[in-house]
Amino acid sequence: MRALIKQHKNSNSGQQQARVIALFSLVGMSITFLMGLLSLFGPNNTLSIVLFIASAIYLIAFFSANKLEIKIGSMLVIYSLYLLMFYLIFSGGVEQTGPLWIFIVAPVSVYVLGLRNGLINLLIFLTVICIIILLPQHIIEHAQYSNSYTLRLILSFVTLSFLSALYEFSRMQSYRNALEISAQFQELAMRDPLTKLANRRNAAAVLEQEKARVIRNNEPLSVLLCDLDHFKAVNDKFGHNGGDMVLVELSALFTQHVREQDCVARWGGEEFLIILPQTSAEHASIIAEKIRSNVEQHTVNFLSQQINVTISIGISQLSEDQSIDELINTADKCLYQAKTLGRNRVYP
Ligand code: GH3
Ligand code: MG
Ligand code: MG
Repeated sequence: MRALIKQHKNSNSGQQQARVIALFSLVGMSITFLMGLLSLFGPNNTLSIVLFIASAIYLIAFFSANKLEIKIGSMLVIYSLYLLMFYLIFSGGVEQTGPLWIFIVAPVSVYVLGLRNGLINLLIFLTVICIIILLPQHIIEHAQYSNSYTLRLILSFVTLSFLSALYEFSRMQSYRNALEISAQFQELAMRDPLTKLANRRNAAAVLEQEKARVIRNNEPLSVLLCDLDHFKAVNDKFGHNGGDMVLVELSALFTQHVREQDCVARWGGEEFLIILPQTSAEHASIIAEKIRSNVEQHTVNFLSQQINVTISIGISQLSEDQSIDELINTADKCLYQAKTLGRNRVYP
């Protein structure tokens, strides 16, 4: 059940990330295309070619992200952005305004790559930027910036990187908290608050899942429907709290006597359903007898009083053409038989 919830969450966060990367790509593609068109009217034709190439790469990133190829999409978004920024720093862009664009890199990196990888990539990015700016002109000719301009550019970039990291950190914290709360709610919706066993809704879902397995693998599936004998009398004698304590202790006892893959559920007030996958009716009968005898021998200590109870159990094995409702109805009829035959017994 936990695995199902986790799988659902993972696919949700994957889809959300894909949507964000697709949006980044779309915005990046539109802006670089527009800037490329504008540069066509300027003197720098190389700039427009670079911008059109970047626009094409964002188009590919957009389609990759939409096909849920998130890793390819995010790599394309990030590294084509870095290359474009390196070119803008190197060439100076239009009237030396190229470096203004590097501030986009900080928030996009930490969002797309995550806090740790984002910061590592930002450090590499900053190092490359510094190398480009400090490259001696006699080795390769490139745009020149004054020392005070370079210093302020780097300091403001570092400040924005720090703020982006801080923002990403608190965003991740809130996301984790929201996931935890949602997991707690899902857990509450599937468990009985008194006994902490699976509730009826949960048991019905498990039965449907197991039925699919029975059809697929041709394996037997049996259920035990257990009902406490004369439980009203227990409540009358020891009070509702005493009755509740019996329900809690018996729940633990049932769980102790079944395998990991079995499911013990609180089906109704003092009725429990035990789902036994890969178990035939004959084998289920042995398990049921063991449970019945353990309940009979168990004593619940409540406010220095001793409570002894017995249970009756109806057994049913799912047949090929049976629905889950019919399976439970058969178990219920068997339980009724066990009661009429004198209680504290297993039927058939
Ligand atoms: P039988 O042997 O025929 O099953 O007799 P019974 O008295 O157990 O059966 P019945 O269905 O008449 O009564 C069930 C009782 O279980 C009635 C109800 O008060 C009690 N019960 C149901 N849910 C709870 C619960 O959560 N806590 C407590 N303490 N009692 C509960
Ligand atoms: Mg009952
Ligand atoms: Mg009862």
